[in-house]
Amino acid sequence: MLPVTGTVPIDDTAIAAAIERHRHADAARVRAVLAKAREMNGLESDDIAALMNVSDPDLLHELFDTAQHIKQAIYGRRLVVFAPLYVSNLCGNECTYCAFRARNTELERRALTQDEIATETRMLIDQGHKRVLLVAGESYPREGFSYVLKAIDTVYGVTHDKGEIRRINVNVAPLTLEQFRELKAAKIGTYQLFQETYHRGTYASVHLAGKKMDYDWRVTAMDRAMEAGIDDVGIGVLFGLFDWRYELLALMQHVRHLEARHGVGPHTLSVPRLEPATGSDVATHPPHAVSDIDFRKIVAILRLAVPYTGIIMSTRESAHIRRETFALGVSQISAGSRTNPGGYADSERENASQFCLGDHRPLDEVIRDVAGLGYIPSFCTACYRLGRTGRDFMDLAKPGEIKEHCDPNALATFVEYLIDYGSDETRAVGEQLVEQVLASMDPVPQQMAVSMVKRVRAGKRDVFC
Ligand code: SAM
Ligand code: SF4
Repeated sequence: MLPVTGTVPIDDTAIAAAIERHRHADAARVRAVLAKAREMNGLESDDIAALMNVSDPDLLHELFDTAQHIKQAIYGRRLVVFAPLYVSNLCGNECTYCAFRARNTELERRALTQDEIATETRMLIDQGHKRVLLVAGESYPREGFSYVLKAIDTVYGVTHDKGEIRRINVNVAPLTLEQFRELKAAKIGTYQLFQETYHRGTYASVHLAGKKMDYDWRVTAMDRAMEAGIDDVGIGVLFGLFDWRYELLALMQHVRHLEARHGVGPHTLSVPRLEPATGSDVATHPPHAVSDIDFRKIVAILRLAVPYTGIIMSTRESAHIRRETFALGVSQISAGSRTNPGGYADSERENASQFCLGDHRPLDEVIRDVAGLGYIPSFCTACYRLGRTGRDFMDLAKPGEIKEHCDPNALATFVEYLIDYGSDETRAVGEQLVEQVLASMDPVPQQMAVSMVKRVRAGKRDVFC
């Protein structure tokens, strides 16, 4: 059932009032919110507003410390790794911040053929990836939306050398209920879509032509997706278009709307910041640029506000910023990414890219870095293949039971990566971490992990629980 009004109500007045009430953060109030957050039951809008204006270094430190505590308690040392797979940059919309926008004549246009998609998939498999996020502009080659369905089939159909892609998440323009049903039948993992800005005036000023001009069609997409049976959805804001404080509170209203209507909120949140893009002044000079310190605050506050919802950090950000946000609550990262269709097979064609990347390192280097920092890179795809999605996932996640699966799955898939794809240097760093983590685990998951890792070392692949 669609929302009665055909929209998701975002209450601007309530947001403005909450921001105003907490403009001058009172230390006692901030500390009370941090204490509440440690109970890991999430936060209300007023709590979030109280944290947004924290600038005192001690309080900021306490905020980050609380985020770190929650991240550690729920996600431990795991970081799930994926890569985007851009299949097409054709687009009928005029989003002023994006290089794919229809009127951008500087961009080299390309929609990959199914053979080219298979080639890109093999390149990703050769790097060691197991999860991809399929991305496209909002205009498909002649066959229309079935192009996306075929692309999903193509990717799942490739088995190559030592591996295959085991989970495809999708980030494409809003669909009809029937199309979402088809997407679900194609066995996708998460459907992802960012509102970009929840502020209607700003939305209208940056979406100048095409279907994307319709704010309500976009904001209700997750209602249709969930009604079509897609349990795991990912939402987000493109930070830099409007005041991040407003966006954070509006994003939370969207979260609460999904929880109330569908019994479960989003599976993931994304926090893209505007990056320079060919032919876009807005992208080069964001009207509401978010500073690095505010960006870290955004991640930390989200970790406190919705402790069990994954937070994704893409390669838009530099290696340095990414490292800083891992501790604050990030649970998934992309690595070795290209944002131009065909970019894995042909990295030279940069003038077909969507935006400039902040982290250009290959997957192996990112994995070595992450492992060196003590995080276990996880290529796990177990949950959705075992039907642990949506509410079932949250029911397991909330009492902390999911960790009993996640840690062994992370270790087994990490060891699989190290053996099949890791460079000697990365294998040395990684194997040391695996030993340390195994030794520090509780007896039940430890027993499971030891047995799974043993099977991987004996040559078994795709071992999960
Ligand atoms: N075309 C679909 C859409 O707009 O939803 C899906 C894919 S679009 C390529 C993926 C996301 O890239 C957009 O939702 C937007 O948030 C982000 N994006 C666009 N331009 C960007 C830029 N200059 N910097 C950072 N992210 C950008
Ligand atoms: Fe097209 Fe999406 Fe880029 Fe907008 S953000 S121009 S819809 S690809």
